[in-house]
Amino acid sequence: MTSVVIQGWSWWSSSQFNKRQLAESINNAQNVFEQYTKEKEKLLTTAARVLTADFGFKQAVTTKDAETIASVLLNHGQRIDADLMLLTDLEGQLISSSLLEFNLDSAQTTSLKVLLNDPGKTHFMILQNTLYQLLALSVNAPRPIAYAIVGFEINSVVADELKTLTGLDISFFNDMDSVITSSINTTNDILTPQYLTSKSLSWLFGSRPAFDNRQIEIDTTTEHPIKLFLTADLSSTYEEYDSLLLSITVIASLIMLVAILLSGLFAKNLTKPLYQLVDLSKAFSKGQYVNIASDTKMSQEISTLFDAFSEMGQAIDTRENQILYQSQHDTLTGLYNRHTFRQVISNTLINGKQHLLIAVNIRGFSNLNDILGIQIGDQCLKALAQRLIDFSKDGWQHARLDGDVFLSLIPLVENVHADRCVQEFLTRLAKPLKVDSLELNLKFWTGITIYPQDGDDAKAIFRRTMIALDYAEKDNKPIRYYHTGEEEARLQHLSIIEALRLALILDDGQLYMNYQPKLNLKTGKIDKVEALIRWKHPELGFVSPEIFISYAEQTGIIFDLTAWVIDTVLKQLSDWQQKGIFIDAAINISAQDISHPDFHMNLKEATIKHQISPKYITLEVTERDLMQDEVQAIALLIELKERGYTISVDDYGIGQSSLAKLKQLPVDELKIDKSFIMELNSSESDQIIVSSTISLGHRLGLSVVAEGLENNESLDILKNMGCDHIQGYFLSRPMASEAFIEWLGSYNHKNV
Ligand code: C2E
Ligand code: CA
Ligand code: CA
Repeated sequence: MTSVVIQGWSWWSSSQFNKRQLAESINNAQNVFEQYTKEKEKLLTTAARVLTADFGFKQAVTTKDAETIASVLLNHGQRIDADLMLLTDLEGQLISSSLLEFNLDSAQTTSLKVLLNDPGKTHFMILQNTLYQLLALSVNAPRPIAYAIVGFEINSVVADELKTLTGLDISFFNDMDSVITSSINTTNDILTPQYLTSKSLSWLFGSRPAFDNRQIEIDTTTEHPIKLFLTADLSSTYEEYDSLLLSITVIASLIMLVAILLSGLFAKNLTKPLYQLVDLSKAFSKGQYVNIASDTKMSQEISTLFDAFSEMGQAIDTRENQILYQSQHDTLTGLYNRHTFRQVISNTLINGKQHLLIAVNIRGFSNLNDILGIQIGDQCLKALAQRLIDFSKDGWQHARLDGDVFLSLIPLVENVHADRCVQEFLTRLAKPLKVDSLELNLKFWTGITIYPQDGDDAKAIFRRTMIALDYAEKDNKPIRYYHTGEEEARLQHLSIIEALRLALILDDGQLYMNYQPKLNLKTGKIDKVEALIRWKHPELGFVSPEIFISYAEQTGIIFDLTAWVIDTVLKQLSDWQQKGIFIDAAINISAQDISHPDFHMNLKEATIKHQISPKYITLEVTERDLMQDEVQAIALLIELKERGYTISVDDYGIGQSSLAKLKQLPVDELKIDKSFIMELNSSESDQIIVSSTISLGHRLGLSVVAEGLENNESLDILKNMGCDHIQGYFLSRPMASEAFIEWLGSYNHKNV
């Protein structure tokens, strides 16, 4: 653009310059021409003066001596190189001429008068078809008697001479616009003023004038005026101008070419690396942090930018990897986290190749945390993770799930039994662990599944391993394999829990109580019943309490259930008491009831509501439940005992608690578990256990109940052993309250 503007401006200014120069040279030419005519005028004046002052000539004019006049005119004319010498009378009538056969017609005579009227001044005039510059002076003797006219011919020689002087062409035209004389030679065209002003030369897409003209005022006659044209032939100017334009154009084009080349070069150096940067950032956005080494040459700035970009990519890559690592791994141990391990499992377990999935939970880890502090706990987890890694073999993979649960995926080697592999794994894992100068002997619960036997997809295997671990914890087993069907049972469990929750809310008779009598062997009377819950679901049918009670315990709704039982049983007792039947009722209590802060208050409120004294109520707590939360359980039991409730240890004998421990518990009664009683008559070992339990119980001041009595022989044995109460199918199955009352009536009647 710049060069186009410069070029345009150059064109315009040089053409302006040309015009000015042209005008100046025309001015100069005009001056020169005027100078020239003045000079000529002076010459003519001098010649005419000399002539008119010549005494002999004057005399010849006076005497009209034609011969003398003619020879004087000729001589003088030759002396000053004049082309025409005339002598006229005062009226302009020709008297004599230096030229032979020179005549004037009347029109020319009239014209001459102009000259005569203005003596001493030159005029241009055509005489006898020739243009002259003429001057007239009067011949005085002493009054004017005639006129002497002197003149130079204006012919092509003069025109050429003028051209050399002025530098311009000069043309004289008559009143008919035909040329008289001119320095211009036209070969084909007729030279006219018209021609000079209108001739044009074609140029580029248009045309331009061939000449620049100026018509100059000269003294001439009005009848036949002479036109004088100064003409500049523009073709040479055009030539110069055109060559100047050409060079400007060439230079401008060159500049443009160079500019285009340079910008192309710049663009190449700039845009190619920029495109590469664009590619790079596109790759970045796809998460490919490739380090593109650029092969193109680039400027310092671009290459710095390129480096910065690459560096940025590397940094993002590193950081993304870090984030990815953190999102996939457990920050504490560096093992996989739960989410990722699920993926690992599903990636690994694909082709049916046998694998073990072992879930490990550290026993009593929360205690360890409480006692030694979280830091030691964390170090312990780390050390354990390191140990897992250290004894890993080919293809072993590990994860830490939440807290203290680890998960290991182990390919089973052919001919090595799963059991052996698990044993080896646990032996290595259970070796004393050094943590911060402490030596810890950790114990574990493990849940184990075998792929593909226990499930052929990763999700199922994972779930079932966790189920197995759950059972390991519940049953306190160091090694627990998953059993087929357990998951399905769990699912059923869930639906049962929902139904139970609903049954409790509705209280529409699905839930009701049965009562199983207890016989006092000392008095022979039925003085107690055990209240046992029953549930008949409209669709599921009869659901065994063995099942739904344990589910209720697992899900925490046992507390509401126990509250319902207490309310129902106490209402029943109150009913019975109103009928005059004063009988003890035993209510089964779960561990979670004991540890619930509102339990005692609920119980108290129920006794007040139904006006039942605690002395009619026995609370049956299993041996295992008692041992779970000893301190709190003991505190509550002491309180309850003080209030007058009877505390009974249910299922005694299967919980492996020592009698020494039992001694510290505030209990009143031992209920020997039915597994020792049901076949008492036929099992000697049961007899030994039962008899020693009865005597030990008595020694501790406890009353002893045998439950699960199914035959008469066992009854006799128990009587002999000094057992206090018996309960069992032999006496009666658990019954609804009306059935029980009926049964009680007939029993009392039978035994009276
Ligand atoms: P448990 O407390 O040991 O109750 C005694 C279980 O033994 C009752 O089973 C009873 O029907 C059964 N039984 C009684 N005599 C005999 C016999 O001679 N032979 C045999 N084979 N069994 C006999 P039930 O009613 O199915 O209850 C099972 C368990 O459910 C109970 O065991 C108790 O732990 C729990 N349970 C029942 N009702 C309640 C309740 O209201 N609250 C709580 N927390 N648990 C309850
Ligand atoms: Ca019981
Ligand atoms: Ca029992």
